Amino acid sequence: MKASERVAQLIKIWPKVYPNAHTELNFKNPLELLIATILSAQCTDKRVNMVTPALFKKYRSAKDYAKAPQAELENAIKSTGFFRNKTKSIRAATSTIAKKFGGKVPDSMEKLRELPGVGRKTANVVLGNAFGINEGIVVDTHVIRLSQRLGLTKEKDPEKIERDLMKLVPKEHWTNWSHWLIWHGRRRCFARKPDCANCEVFRLSRLGMAGRLSSVALGVCSKLFELLFQLLQFFVGEIFQIDQFISRLLQRTNDFVELEMHRFGVAVLGVLDQEHHQKSDDSVAVLMMSCHVSEK
Ligand code: SF4
Repeated sequence: MKASERVAQLIKIWPKVYPNAHTELNFKNPLELLIATILSAQCTDKRVNMVTPALFKKYRSAKDYAKAPQAELENAIKSTGFFRNKTKSIRAATSTIAKKFGGKVPDSMEKLRELPGVGRKTANVVLGNAFGINEGIVVDTHVIRLSQRLGLTKEKDPEKIERDLMKLVPKEHWTNWSHWLIWHGRRRCFARKPDCANCEVFRLSRLGMAGRLSSVALGVCSKLFELLFQLLQFFVGEIFQIDQFISRLLQRTNDFVELEMHRFGVAVLGVLDQEHHQKSDDSVAVLMMSCHVSEK
């Protein structure tokens, strides 16, 4: 099945699996979403959602953030990590919003990219979720992993992955597409141990199918190995028995030869006895030797 056909099937399945998929960052307006998205870099949405209620209560406008002292803002967002850089980005972006865009978060990719510290991913989050504009596809760590596992891209660079996905996924699904992949990445297709056995889109996943095939191949190999081992055991047993048989045969041959020697010795003595009517000392020695050999 081609990638575009798999995407078409996935678009039918995802809404059934994740009917309520949405961004898991809490926000009430574009500014709050912009701030929350900046804070979510290298941090979980859960942690961001713990920090933002107090933050959003204290700083209500772009100007408020822009005026906030660096140390004060750093302290307010400290637990989200990388707080110095995040504070710089928030203050610089909100300062531009206040000065250049009349205090309102712009609603176009071009203008959003003018804000310091705002990249394509953050702009896509804001446009798709705060303004309902499908301008691009958010490519985060989950979307990267899932797109590769589903066999929709071979790229590693987020912007190249986004380009591949934009060719495959119809535009009206771009925002939801990242929600579906992010939700599936968090609930099923984990980075280390994907739960392929219970995956709802298993038959559309390249990695899932490859995993199933390799486990079948592994099963066949282990059966073959077991069979080979049994055959080996059988042959070793047989060889052992042949060895015992040969030893027994040799022993019997030895006994037989010794007995014949003994008989031969007795016969020689008999001849000597008949010829000389007496046993010489030599013939007694021969007899004793032959008896000694046969006793061994
Ligand atoms: S089958 Fe496995 S690898 Fe593929 S999407 Fe599902 S969980 Fe992820």
